[in-house]
Amino acid sequence: MIEKTYIVDIKRNALDDGPGIRTLIFFKGCPLSCVWCQNPEAKSPFLELSFDKGECSECMVCLTSCDQNAINFGYDFRIDRSICNLCGLCVDICPNSALNFVGKEYSIEELMKIVEQEKVAENTIEQARRNAEETIKTAKEKANKIIMEAKSVDSKKSQHEINKESEEKKRRLKEELEGQCEIEVVNGHSQMGSGSLPAQDIPTKLISLIPKSMSADALGYHLRAYEPPIFIRIVKDELLLDFRTIRDDEIKIVEQAIRGIFSGS
Ligand code: SF4
Ligand code: SF4
Repeated sequence: MIEKTYIVDIKRNALDDGPGIRTLIFFKGCPLSCVWCQNPEAKSPFLELSFDKGECSECMVCLTSCDQNAINFGYDFRIDRSICNLCGLCVDICPNSALNFVGKEYSIEELMKIVEQEKVAENTIEQARRNAEETIKTAKEKANKIIMEAKSVDSKKSQHEINKESEEKKRRLKEELEGQCEIEVVNGHSQMGSGSLPAQDIPTKLISLIPKSMSADALGYHLRAYEPPIFIRIVKDELLLDFRTIRDDEIKIVEQAIRGIFSGS
């Protein structure tokens, strides 16, 4: 049984060469000879000495370090591999890392330990991915619910019902706010969605309030500050209420708020 073997490289979090995130171990001793081989240094099963000409400054320090006289700087840099005993002195002394060993010895246990550690990291990443998917799913469901609610509020009432309701509300508000506000029913549009949600206009009737003792802006401010806040529209000097966007059980709250603001309570 092989107790130790030479490894060219261990690539963590590898995304190439197949699906998923994997740990790739490049063994030395590949028996194939593919013409497209990108790792020829992995072909020999033995430890090898490599020389990177691009990094070499020709300082010749390695030459003096080699006891075997295996390094030759004649016409070009040469290592006589027949006499090199792979002692590593030149590798240690080279100031530019131009000389390196190809291959590092690992036992199977050491390799398995590395793989197991990576597996833990990958499981953590996998868990994080699942959590992110769950969060996105929940957010989507929530957004869909909001859209559905918005649609149901908007589409629940027919134009005829809106017309009838607005006239009724106008009559009631006129009775309660006599002399304090000009109150009319005007044509308008309800908006479905906003921001990143698709906006869509549908026809509606609006109640227009023009306050006499304060500006529309001031009345709007008080309504927004009311508990619960009431959101209105201000167009020029008019405060507009869209009863299509107010549920039946909320209409009383709006009436109370307006009454309270004008009575100063
Ligand atoms: S590894 Fe040792 S023997 Fe081989 S070239 Fe370097 S110094 Fe010389
Ligand atoms: S020590 Fe390194 S940089 Fe200097 S000659 Fe040798 S290989 Fe080149």
